[in-house]
Amino acid sequence: MNRWNAEGILRDQLTWALQVKHVVPEFRRRGKCMLCQRPDVNEAGLCIYCMAILDEPEHTLARRWITGAAP
Ligand SMILES: [Zn+2]
Repeated sequence: MNRWNAEGILRDQLTWALQVKHVVPEFRRRGKCMLCQRPDVNEAGLCIYCMAILDEPEHTLARRWITGAAP
């Protein structure tokens, strides 16, 4: 565990973070991107720059937050 609650999470943890229900809301509450800590995050806890670099299945999982299907 790399202190996701104190800083950003690692890219290889993103798929996990998007599948548990407590991580994304925490970053949304702080208003910081899960990966890069930029302000201005979407419903998936990610900024527009990180959203653009997601691969599958990350993008599908992030979309689930944005559309309200997750958690
Ligand atoms: Zn970001």
